[in-house]
Amino acid sequence: MSFSSVSGQDKAVEILKDEIKNGRISHAYLFSGQGGLGKKKLALEFAKAVFCSNKKLDSCDSCISCRKVDHSNHPDLKTIVKAEDKSAISIDQIRELKKEITYKPYESDRKIYIIEDADLMTKEAANSLLKTLEEPPEFATIILLVEDEGKLLPTIVSRCQKVKLTDVSAELIKDILLKKDLPQDKAEILSYLAEGSPGRAVKFAENESFFEKRKSIYNFIAAIDKKTTVEIFSAADQFNKLINNDFPFFYLLSNWYRDIIMFKQNYEQGVKNIDYLDLIKKSTDKYTEKNIMDKLEYIELAKKYIDSNVRKDLALEVLLFKLRQLEQK
Ligand SMILES: [Zn+2]
Repeated sequence: MSFSSVSGQDKAVEILKDEIKNGRISHAYLFSGQGGLGKKKLALEFAKAVFCSNKKLDSCDSCISCRKVDHSNHPDLKTIVKAEDKSAISIDQIRELKKEITYKPYESDRKIYIIEDADLMTKEAANSLLKTLEEPPEFATIILLVEDEGKLLPTIVSRCQKVKLTDVSAELIKDILLKKDLPQDKAEILSYLAEGSPGRAVKFAENESFFEKRKSIYNFIAAIDKKTTVEIFSAADQFNKLINNDFPFFYLLSNWYRDIIMFKQNYEQGVKNIDYLDLIKKSTDKYTEKNIMDKLEYIELAKKYIDSNVRKDLALEVLLFKLRQLEQK
């Protein structure tokens, strides 16, 4: 697919191409940027370009090397991810990397290791990796992927060359969605709602009932002051199911209230839910900004509980009751 498959990251691509051109590939890179910008894709394309036996600045996509990367079986490329049943990247995973990385590459001049969600390394794992970053084998390159570099040890960050991926314009996201045959109006809405992340936009677009479920959330929230206790319990149950199915319930809910704040601050062009302008506008005068900020805080809190599996069933009910209570203030 070559570098051109990573949409909207021209600057990062230029930096990496320069590295290859000048034969100065670093021992450690830090790719940062929010989810859905294509960090992993960029790392894979970089590895492909480095390994490609046609030796251009980009990959050829057809040599054996390129195809091996595409099929995830290139012996000089390894990806480290958090195990599905674990909450962190363990020291054992890093020990394994450190052992392996000392062996010379099999087919290429380099070995490349990609560590996804590098901020999920345990403290021990991070400290152990640091030693390798300080004295890496000359043929090794480690690429750390992270949304927020502030979550990594500063000593690790300082050892890496930084490559920042930037948010993508709504216009480009819309183009990407239109190429995937999404209707114009939906592409337009998602291009704003995705907040600069093409991956997020595509994920929303691929969920057939995205718009319908979003509507049910917004209709409920806009009228939460009139909901009975029974209705709240039933909605909590319904929203819980959405969350368990990886539906971006909290993302949408927060965006709803943030849009109200945009209106309150007379910054209509900052509104993300462009198809709900009227309903959001109607809510604007009902609340003080403080009231909305309080609501956003409760949403964050509930999300934290649910993410960490604490009071998971209760958290959503508590949140909805709190949101209703705040309506009456
Ligand atoms: Zn190639």
